[in-house]
Amino acid sequence: MPLEKFDCLVIGLGGMGSAALFELKKQGLNVMGIEQFSIPHDKGSSHGLSRIIRLAYFEHPSYIPLLKRSYTLWRELENESSEKLLLQTGSIDASLPDDRVFKGSLKSCLDYNLDHEILDGNSLTKKFPGYGLPKKFKAVYQPEGGILIPEKCITTFTNMAKKKGAIIKEGEKVLNLEKDPYGIKVTTNQKSYLAKKAVITAGSWTSELISEFHSILTPVRQVMGWFKPKKEEDFTKEVFPVFNLEVEEGHFYGFPSLDQTGLKIGKWQHRHEKTVPDQLRTDIDKEDEEVLRICLKHYFPKANGQLLNAKACMFTNTPDEHFLIHQSPSMPLLSASGFSGHGFKFCSVIGEIIGQLIIRGKTDYDIDLFSIRRFGR
Ligand SMILES: Cc1cc2nc3c(=O)[nH]c(=O)nc-3n(C[C@H](O)[C@H](O)[C@H](O)COP(=O)(O)OP(=O)(O)OC[C@H]3O[C@@H](n4cnc5c(N)ncnc54)[C@H](O)[C@@H]3O)c2cc1C
Repeated sequence: MPLEKFDCLVIGLGGMGSAALFELKKQGLNVMGIEQFSIPHDKGSSHGLSRIIRLAYFEHPSYIPLLKRSYTLWRELENESSEKLLLQTGSIDASLPDDRVFKGSLKSCLDYNLDHEILDGNSLTKKFPGYGLPKKFKAVYQPEGGILIPEKCITTFTNMAKKKGAIIKEGEKVLNLEKDPYGIKVTTNQKSYLAKKAVITAGSWTSELISEFHSILTPVRQVMGWFKPKKEEDFTKEVFPVFNLEVEEGHFYGFPSLDQTGLKIGKWQHRHEKTVPDQLRTDIDKEDEEVLRICLKHYFPKANGQLLNAKACMFTNTPDEHFLIHQSPSMPLLSASGFSGHGFKFCSVIGEIIGQLIIRGKTDYDIDLFSIRRFGR
């Protein structure tokens, strides 16, 4: 039996793969997406009901042009699908005045002329009463920050791609990739396919398919917790912006209580617990809770109530926490990985970049920061 043939196969349909599939189909390619689990699922990096999107970006100013395009594409997807995916709440980036989060966020606002307001701990509480930081802290408030609903973003991308004619396989795991006269041969636990090109967006599983990434990509267990506020009205999305907070206890991020689900909080890198993706520890223990509660106790005392829910998830870290977009030198194979705990907001623009790289071999965007060359390869 001849093998089915495609212009492009997308391997892994989480945040990035679903966006890439949508973009490639929109550009008229004969595409198929393959996902080992269901769409969506809670075993990778893209579950948990909310992801922060923000324009003020302390991580590196090169992300801001990508973020601006990302916002436009998320809004276009909302219009095309009639789904609400992005909730604007404003964003707070707070730390001591000389620390990275406040300084970097302010720099990005000044460099890119972003609307913003500078607050100290007291004026922050006055403006947003759920916050309880000491006066010595400084915060950048940027009004365009907000929340993406990740599971809904993924199903919207895949549903829209399907509507346009993309084929989607769920519960099928890619096991092997090899060069072929047609382009590339992809073998799953069910069958083999041929494609002119393939994209790997396999998140924490990427180095199972590209073994040379083992030394670059590190999957790390994360925990998100939802806590019951004492006064729900101080933590709704209308009065409580999403936040990044750098304090002596670590770097925390959080979200308002959406429909009384509780204030959601996570600690950047959590307990630095490296994991193997198929062995992610999903039970939540007392220490996981304590890691998060310490931040509530000191900085959000009005939200230090009962733990309502908690979930484990994975970051796929690179050594410098910048992304990795790589064209294989030996096969027509493009990979996008290493989103290091801050990738979701970029799914829409990464989808577009993947589309441009697959179709034209180059992209309009400056993605030098994401090159493998920085690791001496
Ligand atoms: C707790 C937590 C909080 C976060 N907070 C934020 C935030 O606030 N803002 C933000 O922008 N980002 C945030 N991130 C980061 C962001 O969610 C990730 O960067 C993003 O989801 C990564 O998407 P991905 O497509 O690379 O991975 P995934 O969504 O995990 O997708 C990879 C997919 O590939 C599939 N797959 C893997 N191997 C195979 C195979 N062999 N065959 C078939 N399918 C395969 C997997 O099953 C999976 O569905 C957070 C991450 C976590 C864990």
